[in-house]
Formats: sequence, C-alpha cells, structure tokens
Amino acid sequence: MTLPQVLLQVQALEVHYGKIRAVVGLDLEVHEGEIVTLVGINGAGKTSTIRAICGVVPAAGGRIVFAGEQIERLRAPRRMAMGIAHVPEGRQIFINMTLRENLLLGGYHRSDRHQLERDIESALDPFPRLQNRLDEHAYNLSGGELQMLALARGLIARPRLLLLDEPSLGLAPKVVRELFRHLGTLQQQGMTILLVEQNVRQALTIANRGYVLESGRIILSGAAKDLLHDKMVAESYLGIKRDTAVNGKGA
Ligand code: ATP
Repeated sequence: MTLPQVLLQVQALEVHYGKIRAVVGLDLEVHEGEIVTLVGINGAGKTSTIRAICGVVPAAGGRIVFAGEQIERLRAPRRMAMGIAHVPEGRQIFINMTLRENLLLGGYHRSDRHQLERDIESALDPFPRLQNRLDEHAYNLSGGELQMLALARGLIARPRLLLLDEPSLGLAPKVVRELFRHLGTLQQQGMTILLVEQNVRQALTIANRGYVLESGRIILSGAAKDLLHDKMVAESYLGIKRDTAVNGKGA
C-alpha cells in the first residue's frame, strides 16, 4: 500500500510579533486527503500558525513546503493561486455585499471566468440554509450561515488545501454538527483540511491526526482517536477526570 503524499510540511516554524514568540519551532505535516487538526487553548499560537502557512503573517524562521515547493517567502496571493485557501477566524465576510459578490472574492485569482460563474451558481447547493440566496445581502445571515458562506468562499478557490480557523466559534451545537458533517463530506470528495479548533472533542472526532499546541509549541501529536483517549488531553482539554480517561470513557 502506498502512503498518501505529504501535501504540506512545516519545519521549525517561528512566528514573532515584536518580542512575543507566538510560535516556537513548530513542525507539522498534512498528507493528501487527510483532516489534520491543530488544537489548543486561547493564545496557544494556532491562528499564528495558520496565518504563517497562508502568508498573512511572515515566518520569522523555519520552512514551509507545499506540494513540493518551498513557499515561506512567497506572498499570500501566490500561495492562494498554488491552492491554499484560508477561511479565517471571524469569517471576514463583507456584510454589505451580496453572497454572490463575497463568493466572487474567493475566486478572484481564477482566470476561467465562465467556469467561475458556473461554480458560484452551484457553490451554495451543499448548504440548504443558503440555497437560492446568492443575491441577498450577507447582513441577513446568522452566525452559522456566515460560517457556511465563508467555507463556500474558500472552496470557490478550488483549493488543494483548506485552512480552517475556528469554524465552530460562536455557533450553536446543532450548527456545529452540521458544519463538521460537511467537512466529512468534503474529505470524502478528496479535500485536504488543516483545522484549527478550540472545540477539541469535535475536532479530534472528525480528524485523522492531531497536534496539541501549548505556548507556541507542539506538546503532543498522533492519531486523533488516540489523542481523544489520552489522559493529558482528556484532563486538560475535555474536562474529564483521570480515572475515567484511563478507561477511555466519557470522551
Ligand atoms: P485564539 O484562539 O485566541 O485565536 P490562538 O491559539 O490562535 O488563540 P494566536 O492568536 O496565534 O493564538 O496568538 C498567539 C500569541 O500571539 C498570543 O500571545 C497572542 O496574544 C499573540 N498575538 C497574536 N496576534 C498578535 C498580534 N497581531 N500582535 C501581537 N501579539 C499577537
């Protein structure tokens, strides 16, 4: 059996804001077709990692290799054109624009205008709440609908790698389940996803592998199902007492 190819390799990544070292010597890999999650508490360095991968903040050190090319010095639009789509924390939807206009922004680097228009017509089909609403203004949308739109905008880029930053933030549990179900469907369709989450349980339930980040450093990594039953993860991130975690119960 051949192993899936490494699509993204991050080595010894450093992200600094002045004297603040937000990410310190971080290594991670994402293989084709995987969902990999990066979990940790507020301020652990998750967003900084994602932003360095897509080029929104510079890497102060280390290497980022995507699809065999070293990219850490490339500008963000170039990385997007290579197939890295970023769905940022807070979604960054333009609420005074229509859903169609927001989607168009996701495909601005594409030169196949006719196909792009066709893709926009069908971009909302997987999201029942957004169907037939292309020409509505985004200010009508709920938090969950905005998140679905942000995801659809990321997909319009036709990425090879989808970087998702805290997609469940502020959403009702039912909407979170809907969103995570959709991520599973995307994976079945061949998408590769790096998912940043504070919702550790949900993220490890859907992911193939996970990395736990603390104070800018990876402190643990492995198969997501193993991390879900890890004592430290259970106690620190899932609020489960040691005795029950040992048996893998309650996770
Ligand atoms: P959150 O879930 O709150 O976004 P996070 O795990 O994504 O947390 P980061 O946002 O990457 O963590 O923040 C890592 C550290 O870097 C924190 O100490 C944060 O205060 C700091 N930091 C993040 N962005 C900036 C910035 N633009 N300027 C200065 N410090 C920053």
